[in-house]
Amino acid sequence: MLGVASRADVARWTRLSRSTVSSIVAELVAEGLVVDRDEDGRPGSAGRPPALIALDPAAGVAVGIDFGKRHLAVAAADLSHRVLAEEWVEMPEDYGAEEGLDRAAELVDTVLADSGADRDRILGVGMGLPGPVHRSGIVGSSAILPGWAGTRGGERMAERLGLDVWLGNDANLGALSEATWGAGRDTSALVYLKLATGVGAGIVIDGKLFEGAGGTAGEIGHTTLDETGDICRCGSRGCLETYAAGAAIARMLSRSRSEELDLDGVLSRAAAGDPACRRALQEAGRHIGVAVANLCNLVNPERIVVGGSMGHAGDLLLDSLRVSVGLRAIPSAAEDVEVVLGDLGERAELLGAIALVLHEAGPAWSGRTPVIQQAATAETR
Ligand SMILES: [Zn+2]
Repeated sequence: MLGVASRADVARWTRLSRSTVSSIVAELVAEGLVVDRDEDGRPGSAGRPPALIALDPAAGVAVGIDFGKRHLAVAAADLSHRVLAEEWVEMPEDYGAEEGLDRAAELVDTVLADSGADRDRILGVGMGLPGPVHRSGIVGSSAILPGWAGTRGGERMAERLGLDVWLGNDANLGALSEATWGAGRDTSALVYLKLATGVGAGIVIDGKLFEGAGGTAGEIGHTTLDETGDICRCGSRGCLETYAAGAAIARMLSRSRSEELDLDGVLSRAAAGDPACRRALQEAGRHIGVAVANLCNLVNPERIVVGGSMGHAGDLLLDSLRVSVGLRAIPSAAEDVEVVLGDLGERAELLGAIALVLHEAGPAWSGRTPVIQQAATAETR
């Protein structure tokens, strides 16, 4: 998490010559954006040539916000990727966009005060939501936070905070953080699966998020498993989510017993040995594996990183998922891929919101325009 790299690493990633990288680094050091560091992230010691470099922590602060079904998390990190302050609060079921944004704005103030960061040092705010986020900044239909559909959450947040805001889908942000700091490091093609109340995926190719034409790539939960199956909330039939989303599993199990279960209840009973809950999670792994096998045939990923609360089921879920991928992906694609648990757990999406800012903001980075500027462009059409 310390964000250090050698000049040779940078040359390899950028395919620039070492001498070009050295002269660019020298310029960035002169501008105060890059500093010398040792392997532990401490300032390079005098007397020997410093091998590693990092972004200067003092050059800026990135803020991340993660909106979950029942939680809200906010963190601030410096440019050396060190988290300075972090806050998590519980949220009421089905909280709406305005309530969520108000609470998040309060927490941003708290986190900035705790971290001692000046507001004028903030590069921007990354924000993750459990729903599709179109490139226009409009939030699509979400079963997890239905009150947010059709809103421009990023733009509203930018107005509240007076800061640049980048909005992303939570699975995309999980993919970005696992690729930057977690189980997806050093992969050329990574797919992150967020398995929780819903089923989502984020795809990172050569270190960059693949978002598709409109920004909604990775909606693996709406892969058709049975074209005559139940109608899904998206309007199609037999989608993966109707079989294997946490909400669907909990509903199915609740019907077979006298108690109302949610996903956490299913996971804790499975861990205690409940046969029905264990079977439901194994079968969910098998169903998810069918969709993942199709994805492997199309994208040929090197690693599938599993995150989201269903990841707590561990090998109970992952083993059946792996078997399903092995049976259904073409042999070469199945051989190329390994399916592993994420390293960052429930913080993956929050850290991904910070990674989004580090990838997109600031004078030393080039990338997408923040959402507040995108929205203004859209209105002038
Ligand atoms: Zn669907």
